[in-house]
Amino acid sequence: MSRSQKEMPDTQPWQPIQINYDVSLLIPRRFDRPGSCQVCGRRLPILSRWLGSDAAKVAHDDCYRNTVAEKKQAYEEYRQSLRTALAKGAMGDWDRIGLLNLKNKLGLTQHEVDKVQLLAFHDLFAGAVEDRVLTEQEDKMLSQAKEELKLDDGQLQPYLSVLARLRFIREIQEGHLPTITPTILLKRSEIAHFHCMAEFWEERVTQRGYEGGSHGVSIRIAKGVYYRVGAHKGRLVTETGIVKVDQGTLVITNQRIVFNGFAKSFSIPMGKLINYVVYEDAIQLDKEGKAKPAYFKVEDPEIAAVLISAIAQKT
Ligand SMILES: [Zn+2]
Repeated sequence: MSRSQKEMPDTQPWQPIQINYDVSLLIPRRFDRPGSCQVCGRRLPILSRWLGSDAAKVAHDDCYRNTVAEKKQAYEEYRQSLRTALAKGAMGDWDRIGLLNLKNKLGLTQHEVDKVQLLAFHDLFAGAVEDRVLTEQEDKMLSQAKEELKLDDGQLQPYLSVLARLRFIREIQEGHLPTITPTILLKRSEIAHFHCMAEFWEERVTQRGYEGGSHGVSIRIAKGVYYRVGAHKGRLVTETGIVKVDQGTLVITNQRIVFNGFAKSFSIPMGKLINYVVYEDAIQLDKEGKAKPAYFKVEDPEIAAVLISAIAQKT
């Protein structure tokens, strides 16, 4: 056990993170006189004081609407300024002073600022991962933003798992392949890089005239032909005539791809792999001299593709 063990990040494949927030507004109490609009100070109509909504009991409709609109604008202005300051990387004292002044000028409370900070982080994150590649520079910028805003891991959990996955992919693409201890017996000088649960699917002609059409992205195995992250589309399950044959574990080593199933096991030597196709939910492997491709439904086909691509470049 002298090999370095790299932990696989516990992540889900690509899922965009949705963030929702409403401007929840509490009209500040500015006027003591009961029955006065808390925005403009004038008397409220008697009917709205008795029968109106909570908002109507403290402010005129127009006054309330204007206050909400102003607050939204203030949020937006602060969000943009914060985003701009954070995008540069390390923030300076001038940036911090500028933001503090803006907070006071816009009349934002600390609670409101906390909300906007999360939104600004979300903006930066969304911009960085839009192309589904996390560069070292983007990674650093997000870490600095997290530190600057003093956001804790609990708040950022969905973001951190996406980032861990993209970081893992980046390391593989840079040639730092993970090493694992698989459940299969390895050959001499064989190194296992990855394993995951997999379903083995195969083409079965179920109807006359069926032709297996492919919606995935096909990549030829050749030096210098890399799998591009995010290049896949289409789900295997939408293809007709492909049925589940077995389930088990898929192991990727520096020498072969092994399927260790309940009913059957087989392997494809790296040298015999001529092509692979990446789907959203599966990876298809085409072995030299074999008419039928092997389909493996896996949790994260992209990681498998990136690894196969990296191993193909090394061998
Ligand atoms: Zn008013």
